[in-house]
Amino acid sequence: MTPLLPLALCAALGLACYAPATLAAAPKPATLAIVHAKVVTMDKSLHVHDDGTIIIDGGNIVAIGPAGLEKAYAAAQTIDAGGNIAMPGMINTHNHIAMMAFRGLGEYRSDDRLRKFFFPLESRMLSRHLINVASRQAAMELAVNGVTTVADMYYHEDEVAKAVRDVGIRGVLGETVMNFPVVDAPEPYGGFQYAIDFVKQFKGDPLITPAFAPHAPYSVSPQMLAKVQQAAEQYDVPVLMHVAEPPDEWERVKTKFPEAAHFDNELDYLDSTGILSPRLLAAHVLRADARDIALFKARDVGIAHNPKANTKGHGGLSPALEMMHAGLGVGLGTDGPLSGNQMDIVSVMGYAKRVANIRHPETTTYKPPELVAMATIGGARALKMDDRIGSLEVGKAADVILLDTHSLNMQPLYDVYAAIVYQANARDIYTTIVNGRVVARDGKVLTVDLDKQRQAWDQVTHEVAEFARTLNY
Ligand SMILES: [Zn+2]
Repeated sequence: MTPLLPLALCAALGLACYAPATLAAAPKPATLAIVHAKVVTMDKSLHVHDDGTIIIDGGNIVAIGPAGLEKAYAAAQTIDAGGNIAMPGMINTHNHIAMMAFRGLGEYRSDDRLRKFFFPLESRMLSRHLINVASRQAAMELAVNGVTTVADMYYHEDEVAKAVRDVGIRGVLGETVMNFPVVDAPEPYGGFQYAIDFVKQFKGDPLITPAFAPHAPYSVSPQMLAKVQQAAEQYDVPVLMHVAEPPDEWERVKTKFPEAAHFDNELDYLDSTGILSPRLLAAHVLRADARDIALFKARDVGIAHNPKANTKGHGGLSPALEMMHAGLGVGLGTDGPLSGNQMDIVSVMGYAKRVANIRHPETTTYKPPELVAMATIGGARALKMDDRIGSLEVGKAADVILLDTHSLNMQPLYDVYAAIVYQANARDIYTTIVNGRVVARDGKVLTVDLDKQRQAWDQVTHEVAEFARTLNY
């Protein structure tokens, strides 16, 4: 078949030109074409297009296939990936991004850092303004690191939402509900009403999924857990909660809430409140035996695995491997900047494998594609968003990152999954696209007034540093 040339070009070449009606279909509209990418789809069959094309229209992927596919589309913008990797944006399933304002403080002692250092710091320094500025700063770092969705639990979550939306990444953002006064709720459990208002304000936003965030089993009564669950059902939103984190959690629960003493086991107690449901993303879960895992599975609870923060904080290591093998949705997280420090998910993949090998010295733990899955589609499953994000498939949201395969550390490139897990670092990610929009390129966020943010950030961190010095920690 004679290749079809544009009529004008073919006339200019003096050729006899014709365009049979069947082949002359008008190119379909598209906003963005990514061409010549090694497309790691993370779909069910783990399909990789070696020289692949992704066509995006608006916020969605409308076609994926081999080189040349773009010819059927009139894309407004084309990115030539030059053989680099295109993969789904990574999902950070547990964070407290506003704590970016406190990163790197109080790192010399670990004895009761939370109570003696961090709580005074939080109660003195937290404000709407700090939460907004620090969240924007963190969201920028997430964006350049290839994180396109972050799950977050904190206060004034409406400010977190505005910051995340400004940067243009996705947020599943939970307003904290707990039994003592906090910055945005002077009454115990005041966060519950705040959360309802927040959910109403942001429900339906294209990037923000508002959520309830009961802090932990030891800081929220069974009656309040039941109310949160009811409200989450009513407004059809997720629930984010820390579960099985401190070693004495179950003892603390029984001391605080006497009704818990009727149960032999923490998870049975939690189940009695209704909070264990497909809506729940349980962060950490450092202890879960086979029976607990079966209950999580029966209730279809999602899990956020934070191995770097957990080992840094002496928490130990979650049985995430067992939970993944049981078929639970398990994603990776960093936890907040105070405990997780690094906000990228690239480095968490290889770390998860290394520490799993220490926990299971006798067996094979994760294979590279399983770790890439935890960073992408596994996180989406944990958040029950796998119908929208987590893999590159037609009809899904266009959350795509490009990763440079020509850097020294990415060579040689024999196995794409092994290279992503063990060779890549976050700096190799050079383009981040969320909902069809390029939000970061070459280490810079394109969506934010950087000078304005820098000024606000310098002011906030200067004030934090001054007060932190008075704590003598
Ligand atoms: Zn946390």
